[in-house]
Amino acid sequence: MTKLGRVAVFSAPEQPFTIQQRTLPEPGPGAVVVKVSTCNICGSDLHAWHGKFKTTQLGGSLPTVLGHEMVGSVEALGEGVTSDTNGLPLKVGDRVAYTYFTGCGKCYQCLHGHRVACANLKMAMLGNAEQWPHFVGGYADYFYVYPGSTIYKVSEDIPDELAAGANCALSQVIFGFQRAQLQFGDVVVIQGAGGLGLYAAGVAKAAGAAKVIVLDAVPDRLDLARRFGADHTINITDFPEFKARLKEVKRFTGPRGADIVMELVGRPDVVNDGIAMLSMLGRYVLIGNINGGQTYEADPSRLVFGNKTLIGVSLYEPHVLGLALKFLEQYKDRLPFKELLSSKFPLDRIDEAFQAADKREIARASIVM
Ligand SMILES: [Zn+2]
Ligand SMILES: [Zn+2]
Repeated sequence: MTKLGRVAVFSAPEQPFTIQQRTLPEPGPGAVVVKVSTCNICGSDLHAWHGKFKTTQLGGSLPTVLGHEMVGSVEALGEGVTSDTNGLPLKVGDRVAYTYFTGCGKCYQCLHGHRVACANLKMAMLGNAEQWPHFVGGYADYFYVYPGSTIYKVSEDIPDELAAGANCALSQVIFGFQRAQLQFGDVVVIQGAGGLGLYAAGVAKAAGAAKVIVLDAVPDRLDLARRFGADHTINITDFPEFKARLKEVKRFTGPRGADIVMELVGRPDVVNDGIAMLSMLGRYVLIGNINGGQTYEADPSRLVFGNKTLIGVSLYEPHVLGLALKFLEQYKDRLPFKELLSSKFPLDRIDEAFQAADKREIARASIVM
């Protein structure tokens, strides 16, 4: 008997989602069908919903299924799948986290070890909901995990919504610090204390940063950033002038400036600020600016004379998801993750969830199946 599952179909920006039934695919050799339990609403889902982040420009087509910060349990294993990426035995019903994108393993970049830059990337939110395997995003009862994906069993004491956040937000900042070669003793400045900024503060301290300084305009977020490990926080509304803001940052970094500045704001006008906060040879990591067409005025000599580096970071190497899960296992009781818990909405109230998340009426929203 064929089994059916629901998908929240996204047909056009700012239109209501439609909940439709699709036939559950049989997993091909090496694939896994996952029963999704929770899928968070990430900033990029909101941008996609508004049409600012154009999934079609990344090779996707509409209608599709949005959602990628998800977790679930094994519904069916394809031929040959007997263990997770760590070699632990995998069976139907096991709770799992998995990358929402899959490299081909054969293209130039994959063969050079950079699956994050795969030329034939299969990614959630890019597949077409009308075509097999239909379950191509997280706002659905099931998700089709393609062969060659990274999949990890999730330890029982990590709750669903924390595990869901490993896949995207947390992995993204860990990979950002890897790309910037964060070293023990480094001084780190984080622009933005949203979910990613809080994770970034925790990860930087765990990785041995000597000092972490977080900037934001919302006092509650800054308070939470300190509880996630930030040594100092700066409310930018107290320092509207750039020069005063820079002076305040240097009061904490020392005159040298920061080894790494991470942008988690999503606005191009913060970039020049961040570059100015860097020390000589400092690395500026851009993660938040995902919307095309938003520009800033640049003076390249500021990079040249400081031997500074700009690093754009999108997605992450698949093994980073395993590091994110290990980080959660180690720090789940030491950092105030409970404060990040989200408001839960059932799948058939997804429109309401998007509107609430968009108006920032709630800190975070999760869709639960
Ligand atoms: Zn995301
Ligand atoms: Zn590839």
